Amino acid sequence: MVTTASPEISRRQFLVAGGLAATTAWFAPTVLFAQSDDVLVPGAFKAAATAAVTVQALRRNVSVLLGAGGNIAVLTGPDGKVLVDAEIVTARPHVSAALASINADPIRQLINTHWHFDHTGGNEWLHEAGASILAQENTREHLSKNTRVEGWKHTFPAGPAGAIPSIVFKEEHTLHANGTTLTLKHYLPAHTDSDISVHFTEADIFHTGDTFWNRDYPFIDYSTGGSIDGTIRAAEANLAKVTDKMIVIPGHGAVGGRADLILFRDVLVDIRDKVAALKKQGQSLDEVVAAKPSARYDAEWGNLFMTPAAFIALVYQGV
Ligand SMILES: [Zn+2]
Repeated sequence: MVTTASPEISRRQFLVAGGLAATTAWFAPTVLFAQSDDVLVPGAFKAAATAAVTVQALRRNVSVLLGAGGNIAVLTGPDGKVLVDAEIVTARPHVSAALASINADPIRQLINTHWHFDHTGGNEWLHEAGASILAQENTREHLSKNTRVEGWKHTFPAGPAGAIPSIVFKEEHTLHANGTTLTLKHYLPAHTDSDISVHFTEADIFHTGDTFWNRDYPFIDYSTGGSIDGTIRAAEANLAKVTDKMIVIPGHGAVGGRADLILFRDVLVDIRDKVAALKKQGQSLDEVVAAKPSARYDAEWGNLFMTPAAFIALVYQGV
């Protein structure tokens, strides 16, 4: 259960964040994709070090922690805490305090919705705190070796032993804890090739990981299997699963429901179709961005993480 994994990776991440992040800000990414520098990930480390992590009680014994990184679901009960996702490593003090504010029970299980650093950054310390880590097999694969994300201009080093999921599955996995059945299901390649959903059956709460961003343009990681069409396919899969009564936890953004998933799907399809039509006419990426095919959504959707131009570039790449 407990390992003696080296803290080297975390320390290096802190140093990188401290050294480079002063030139950028997580919430002001206007130039992030216009330059080739590796600034987004260091900026995220820096922002998460100070960002508040709040607790929102949802239904039955399930809560969500909302911070700078991916949303964390927390299931409580006599078996100890079960977490879905682990935030950015630098958010540790805030995540730790938020978990302690729910109750003093130990952390027993961590599930990763996919391999990205803003969902797995806490793997090592949560493992040291007593959690065993469960994920789809591609999450273990990407965390086990150096992995480049071209969209972020960043190469992630292989994780330390304690950060690597010890149990993995391919398509589906069922878990029982705290009187709850958790159903885990792998998506076809969407945001990455490692995305899974987690359904808390009794509470009827559905964590989509990064296949759903609530009123924010999603990042799409083409380097590890993501695509715009895969992202739309996953949005359709979510709609086929989610009922009006379900509470839906997105990877990023506020907790929502079926209507928010419909909107997300519709926005993606609208922008995809417009960008595809312009590209088919022979327009360059710069010309498509200048045509502002996402103009009607930009004020609301282009703020958190992806500028309209950055999102259009990701769509253009895949059509
Ligand atoms: Zn992600």
